[in-house]
Order: sequence, then structure tokens, then C-alpha cells
Amino acid sequence: MRWNTLDDMDLAGKRVLVRVDINVPVENGQVTDDTRIRRIVPTIEDILAKGGKPILIAHFGRPKGKVVLDLSLRVTLKALEAALGRKVAFDETLEAAESQTDEQRAADVILLENIRFHPGEEKNDPEFAKRLAALGDVYCNDAFSAAHRAHASTEALARLLPSCAGRLMQAELEALEAALGAPERPVVAVVGGAKVSTKLDLLGNLVEKVDMLVIGGGMANTFLAAEGIDVGKSLCEHEMAETARAIAKKAGEAGCELLLPMDAVVAREFKAGAENEVVVAENVPADAMILDAGPESVAHILQAFGKAKTLIWNGPLGAFEIDPFDAATNAAAKAAAELTRAGKLVSVAGGGDTVAALNKSGAAEDFTYISTAGGAFLEWMEGKILPGVAALETA
Ligand code: ADP
Ligand code: MG
Repeated sequence: MRWNTLDDMDLAGKRVLVRVDINVPVENGQVTDDTRIRRIVPTIEDILAKGGKPILIAHFGRPKGKVVLDLSLRVTLKALEAALGRKVAFDETLEAAESQTDEQRAADVILLENIRFHPGEEKNDPEFAKRLAALGDVYCNDAFSAAHRAHASTEALARLLPSCAGRLMQAELEALEAALGAPERPVVAVVGGAKVSTKLDLLGNLVEKVDMLVIGGGMANTFLAAEGIDVGKSLCEHEMAETARAIAKKAGEAGCELLLPMDAVVAREFKAGAENEVVVAENVPADAMILDAGPESVAHILQAFGKAKTLIWNGPLGAFEIDPFDAATNAAAKAAAELTRAGKLVSVAGGGDTVAALNKSGAAEDFTYISTAGGAFLEWMEGKILPGVAALETA
């Protein structure tokens, strides 16, 4: 797949429509975490350095095509100006954007009001996209996290103007391409988390692409149960047994080795510090539940990491939110981080709880890439085509 980057574009004197994701958490009118805002700064600075004028298009919450004052992007303005160290003009309406004011001319950057206030946005309406296109000369998409949706500002607009990926999008695409596009083999995937049923497409796609699949977390219980193992009171989707067996069969046919836990940390209560013990997978007491992978399983996972050249990870190996059931996740994360730092492994991870778990482990920083794009990352891992990325593709 090919796409232009900012390096390929002539931006001197051009108005650059930049799709960004600044859907940040807000409490009492204050941005409480500006991570997403800070991550778009390189793109904006590069556009300015090339003589372009950035006009930011973004969404905030789910106003469903109507003006909802509580969901105004104005709330992000101060944080945006602070992150950029520049003046940002805010256009409340498209009409305002269409008639350049003095304030806009004086500002380095323009931010348009919540694009989802317009019904045409989520409908990917071509007329609405044309109206947006008239506001700029070039389109730059820096919102990978919104790329799984075909909306006017992520899809149709890209087809109307010369288009490119912003720096964040570029980093994400390059990291993902390295992990699953043409990865160095062997590739090991870790899929954990709560349920098999929420990750069927993911498991089905991965067994055809990777050399080894480590199954962890609650979903491993379903695979164990499907093999006839009694998992006691563990989280388990017994009705998914047939599906789990089908995935295991598909893995075998595709030459993908499946690694299930051989031992587990079990407890009687789902709470921090709950009394716990290690048992082999076949010996889970009837009144206990599996809350983490055991040391033997962890040793096998580390061995697999040691042989691999590429790791792709979604889903924690245990109930990482409560100590000490984060131990397996932490140990695996630390091992992956060390191998990555030593130049032996390309490691890519993503998913809401996965990012939280890897941050908690303290190992996240050493991963090759951690995607914060929840839904888009998962759909990409599932092998789906992301409309926002497809629209950027050059012939
Ligand atoms: P992500 O958001 O990264 O895609 P998931 O939402 O699929 O990940 O899974 C994360 C959840 O899985 C966590 O809340 C974690 O507590 C839970 N989990 C992992 N292992 C177990 C287990 N053995 N029993 C119960 N819950 C588990
Ligand atoms: Mg989750």
C-alpha cells in the first residue's frame, strides 16, 4: 500500500485541511488529558514550516448531526494553543470559515467547530465533502483512530483534494505495515482479554497470518473448556466451545502454533490481594476462578518471544486491574520491551485495556509502537480495510 506523506506535498501558500483526533477527555470544562492534542503537534508544525496554513477538522463526542453546545470543540482551544505555543482561531460555523476574517488571518492555525454537528459528516455525504474541500487546497489525514469510519472528513474529502498522511498517521501505518504487512518472521501474536466472542474476527485473521498465537486472559478459559478442562468458576463462554475448536483447527491447518496456558493463578474472589494459588490447568478447583496465567505459561510465552522477530499484542493475559493478577501481563510486557530495546524484536500493541495494562507494567515505552487508536487498531488487526486509509492510497 502506498500513500503520500507531508514530504511529498508542496504546501507553500496552501490552505491545508487537517483531519485530527482531539476527542480528549474533559471534566468541568477542562481538558484532563491532552495526549491526543500533543500528538498532532508535529504535523501542524511541519505544515507551517512548509508555508502551509493548517485548518483543523475534528469531532468531539457524538452529537449525531446536530449542534450540541456541550460538545463544542471550543473546550480544547486553550490546550491546543498551549501545546502549539501559537494562536488558534476558532470557527463556530462553516459560513465563518468560508468568509475569512481578520482573526483567522492573524492566527497561525484555524480550528473548525465539531464536524459531527453536520449531518453530512457521518453520512459521508459527497455534497458536504465538496463544501469542506472548498475550504482548502490540500488534505492531510492525521486521525488514524477515526480511519475505520467512512465519514465525509475521513473518506470523501480525501478523494477531492491532493491528499497525504500526517506524521501520526504515517507513524501508525509504518508500524502496522512492519508488524503485519511484510513482517520479519517468526511472528507471534498475543490475544488476551475477557471474551472470545468479542474477538472472533481477530482470532480468525491472525491464525492465517502469524506463526504462533498465544491465547491468554479470560478467553483462554473458553479454549481450555473446549478441550474438556473444567475451569471451575472462571469467566468462560461455554457456548463458544465449538467456535474455539474451529479456531484451533484453522490454526493447525494454517501452520500456526497455538499456545494455551498450562497453569493458572486461581482465587476465590475477584478482588485485589485475594488469596491465590498456582495450579496446573487441569486442576482448577471447582470453587475457584482463573485470574492470571501461571509461571509455567509465562515461561513458555517468554520462550516464544525469544524466538520471534515480530510481536503483535492485543488483550491482557490476566485481570491486570487487580494486584497481583497483573503478574503474567507484566512479565510478558517487560520481556517484550527488553527484546525490543536489544533490537531483537519489533513489538506492536494496541487496544484500550492493553494500553492501560502495558502502561501499568512500565514497559510500554520500550515497545516499537503502541497504538492508542482503539477501534481502528482492532479493525486493522482483524485484516479489515480502513476506509480512511484506503482513501489516501496512491495508485
Ligand atoms: P482491550 O480493551 O485491550 O481490547 P479487552 O477489553 O478485550 O482488552 O480485555 C481486557 C479485560 O479482560 C480486562 O478488564 C481484564 O480484567 C479482563 N480479563 C483478563 N483476564 C481475565 C480473567 N482471567 N478473568 C476475568 N477477566 C479477565
Ligand atoms: Mg477493552
